[in-house]
Amino acid sequence: MKTIGLIGGMSWESTAIYYELINKKVKKVLGGFHSAKSILTSVDFAEIENLQHNDDWNGLNKLMVQSTKQLENAGADLIILCTNTMHLCSHEMIKSTTVPFLHIATATGEKIKAEGLNKLALLGTKFTMEKDFYKNTLNDYGIEVMIPNEKDRNTIHHIIYKELVLGIIKDDSKEELKRIIKALELDGAQGVILGCTELPLLIKPQDVNIPVFDTTRIHAESAVEIALKN
Ligand code: GLU
Repeated sequence: MKTIGLIGGMSWESTAIYYELINKKVKKVLGGFHSAKSILTSVDFAEIENLQHNDDWNGLNKLMVQSTKQLENAGADLIILCTNTMHLCSHEMIKSTTVPFLHIATATGEKIKAEGLNKLALLGTKFTMEKDFYKNTLNDYGIEVMIPNEKDRNTIHHIIYKELVLGIIKDDSKEELKRIIKALELDGAQGVILGCTELPLLIKPQDVNIPVFDTTRIHAESAVEIALKN
């Protein structure tokens, strides 16, 4: 079994879920007493959030490269970055290490392609929905990406940063997200990508009519598949 290196803390609410999903998947595949070999390096999200909202992506690149090196030095065989948004830094991270890096949008693109879908709604932070880094990777899988209108993008961004990363779960916010997903479905979305690792705290597959692609689960389980491959 390979050792999975996780860069977490963005937020720790979803990193905890990664840890659980990874161990559950190893247990499911290998059975018995098996659990995942992993190394976690976790950042202080207050620093990250501050740099993000000051648009200091150079500063963020430096922090993410630092975490990558920590995992490399600690002996990780594979690195995953437990947040969608911070994949804006993935280019610099990949350049800084020889350890394989599993991109969250690549894992998600593979899964969507396997399901035969090609027009998907993407929900996440404004960084993820509005910048090109994430959509471009999905486009490489022949996926057309739809995003909510500006007002709804602001609503989702607010729900993520003012509630979910702080562990606050509100029924009203769940209803808002359901309404936003329904509008995208009526516009032709065949499925919805929960492109923020905290969104699955609020939206479950049974809440909506179209297939849900939970990037936290997809990323965690794909990492295990790689870790267990000979
Ligand atoms: N975890 C979130 C994501 O998947 C947002 C928090 C962050 O900015 O990293 O994008």
